[in-house]
Amino acid sequence: MTPHQDVKEIGTATLSEFAGGMRGTVVRPGDAEYDEARGIWNAAHDRRPALVARCAGVADVLRTVELARSEGLPLAVRGGGHSIPGFSTCDNGIVLDLSPMRGVRVDLAARQARAEAGCLWRDLDAETQQFGLAVTGGLVSSTGISGFTLGGGIGWLVRRCGLTLDSLAGADVVTADGRYLHASADEHPDLFWALRGGGGNFGVVTSLDYDLHEIGLTVYSGLVFYPAEEAEQVLRGYREACAGAADELTTLVNLTTAPPLPFLPEHAHGRRVVAIGGCWAADGDRGEEATAPFRSLGTVLADVFAPHPYVAWQQALDPLYPRGLHNYFRSVFLRVAGDAALETLLSAFDQVPGPLCEIHLHQLGGAMARVPADSTAFAVRDHDYIVNVIGRTPDAQGFAEAVEWARGVTSALGPDAATYVNFTGEGSADRVRAAYPPDTYRRLVSAKETYDPTNLFRLNQNIAPKL
Ligand code: FAD
Repeated sequence: MTPHQDVKEIGTATLSEFAGGMRGTVVRPGDAEYDEARGIWNAAHDRRPALVARCAGVADVLRTVELARSEGLPLAVRGGGHSIPGFSTCDNGIVLDLSPMRGVRVDLAARQARAEAGCLWRDLDAETQQFGLAVTGGLVSSTGISGFTLGGGIGWLVRRCGLTLDSLAGADVVTADGRYLHASADEHPDLFWALRGGGGNFGVVTSLDYDLHEIGLTVYSGLVFYPAEEAEQVLRGYREACAGAADELTTLVNLTTAPPLPFLPEHAHGRRVVAIGGCWAADGDRGEEATAPFRSLGTVLADVFAPHPYVAWQQALDPLYPRGLHNYFRSVFLRVAGDAALETLLSAFDQVPGPLCEIHLHQLGGAMARVPADSTAFAVRDHDYIVNVIGRTPDAQGFAEAVEWARGVTSALGPDAATYVNFTGEGSADRVRAAYPPDTYRRLVSAKETYDPTNLFRLNQNIAPKL
């Protein structure tokens, strides 16, 4: 069966009527832009949708949801297209692509921003930073704000400002039955609760309102690199440094292989290294002192900590995470970084299957931990760290081994440990359950039954309604 025949299954007349009523564009198999339109950041998911609806506004979103519902077709919702498990594309169904919707309005009096759901972090950062404001954003600026926020949001401001969803003040949502609702603490509070951590299960979010934080234009940030031979000493030292870190400082360790970065000595290129990244988002004069304990943990190969424009720092890692590779992420929250956990990380680092595979250890806590666990659907807040294991290869060759390695590391860290939906490369029921404590999961099922009882929105870390 050719992809064209798949489209005809919808019905040519229905399709023409649909496309004719759209303010945005409809891309179908055979169109010049089809290959670009169907692709997402993670090339491990090569899918062929029947159509991609590039929505220009809420009316287009309503129209596309109605088409998926009436035709009984799979519906993939796409914000920035960075889904690791590939949920923002599909075979033979509809991709609702929000990428044309990238407007941002900053309300200085309210210190809030309303961002359309197709914005990437670089869009929102550019507008809010015009005024020295920000909300916790992604480590890579090409990531979409929507999927990121609805799943959680761990970035360079997480210890100072909390998760991204902790700054979400409201959202406009198109539900499965075609209603257009505003969810906030005052309106549809059950939906607002579920959206903050429950991902794309409850509808298509068309805009997000954020409370903004005064960050200023400059942060003291950077990376320091140590040789892999000193990994044990550096990890132990990192743990000690974290214990004394102020909430204004967010750091992470990356057990990785050095790319040929110009500031790294040539002898380190292509060798395994321990990198520590950090961002001090407060009074610039204290940044050097605050980050010092992290920058003297061994033989320093390079240290590029310095004052940086916040926007530049938000984009600094972009070249290291390009679109088009094969990717698999798997994560585990750690209550503490105990000796056994550190040993597991070290041994996994020794067995890393390829130069693009990495282990990230993020320190959490701070503002994120001060939010009551039941106030949003993101309930795992009392853990000090999260480990994100990245299995990555240039193409399909060796990818299965990289996935196996990532699974093995997280299982060794705690087979029953809590996981983070946004750092999860699969959507199996047990992985989704592992992201939520039982009470949270029950509440999410109840919200699902209210807002999407037929599970129209199922291409996600799915919370299935009870049958
Ligand atoms: P998409 O692929 O567009 O969407 C993912 C899913 O979210 C969709 O399948 C859908 O279910 C849902 N969704 C998206 N938009 C909407 C909407 N408007 N309404 C309803 N549902 C929607 N996470 C972190 O916490 N911190 C990081 O620093 C971080 N860095 C990352 C860096 C890279 C390079 C990548 C690939 C991922 C990173 N992530 C990070 C994970 C990221 O949060 C998730 O992949 C997230 O889902 C990406 O959002 P998106 O809108 O780009 O994804």
